Amino acid sequence: MESCKSLWGRWHLVWELTSQMVIRFVVHHSLSKSMETYYQESGRAGRDGLPSECVLFFRPADAPRQSSMVFYENSGLKNLYDIVRYCQSKRECRRSAFFRHFAEPLQECNGMCDNCAFSNEVEELDVSSHAKLIVSMLKDIQENDQRVTMLQLVEKLKVKQKNLGPDLKKDELEQLVIKLVLDHVLKEEFQHTAYATNAYVTAGPLAKQVLQGNKIIKVEMSTRQSRTSSSMKSSKRERSTGLDDKLDELRKELASIHGGIFPHSVLSTQQISTLSGQKPKSIEELEKIIGKLKTEKYGSRILEEIANYESDPQKDADGSKETKGNTVKKLKTKKALVVLESSEDET
Ligand SMILES: [Zn+2]
Repeated sequence: MESCKSLWGRWHLVWELTSQMVIRFVVHHSLSKSMETYYQESGRAGRDGLPSECVLFFRPADAPRQSSMVFYENSGLKNLYDIVRYCQSKRECRRSAFFRHFAEPLQECNGMCDNCAFSNEVEELDVSSHAKLIVSMLKDIQENDQRVTMLQLVEKLKVKQKNLGPDLKKDELEQLVIKLVLDHVLKEEFQHTAYATNAYVTAGPLAKQVLQGNKIIKVEMSTRQSRTSSSMKSSKRERSTGLDDKLDELRKELASIHGGIFPHSVLSTQQISTLSGQKPKSIEELEKIIGKLKTEKYGSRILEEIANYESDPQKDADGSKETKGNTVKKLKTKKALVVLESSEDET
């Protein structure tokens, strides 16, 4: 086991490295404990003012795993639920969520975050009947002096949700249970065992309202996932016109010119698809699709690419195929990777 001193030395080295390096990409493979922690950690990227990418991997099952570790801390659960709410949101701008959390004036995101880029691929589902079933099941379980974890509850729900309307998938049911916890319809309870602390879900303060039908429960569901496998293949075939490919090449080139940033920071795939469909001809039209900031930086090149394509689409479509090999080679540039300790190990 490493001593505290050598751990501190290692952490100090990482801190020194990261404070001096230009960081373009921050990945969170697990959930941070609070918005403050996540803001501080992800804020290491792009300190030179250039676009950088922050990715946070999240699934609802991460919430009870983390809550069992922070519930005994002052405001531990409240802070955790704030960031879980941030992660579960599929419509609110990520940037605005930070500004709102820190009570700062809102600023435009210009389509840089995933929620702004994909907000048209989200639908809101009324799942009040599912919520009612969850509450009544938990009441029965409690009356029998039993307890369930979120995952056990979801397994039971998968069987019992028949005839309720839309059949929710496992991850959607998990998303709903966590939403009900965040909305105080359910609550988490914790129990220590010899080896771990288990998090259970039980009826919360607003459970009665749901049971009586006085509270509507809606969840935001992404329509993106269901489309990715089958429809993406067909949409790729549909866009054999080549403009998508040309814009894809262009974003890689611009990303390389602007300090080796990630191509998605220049144009998201959704924006490329919209540009390809609408083919804007002026700065004003372009700004409505990709926002002011990106238009100022990359607008003239994007409009030039679209105009070139419009003048001779066939030539551009053929040309795009030839450049593919070169692009792959260009992407294989050497990049240093620094792995930071995750937030749960910091305390
Ligand atoms: Zn946004």
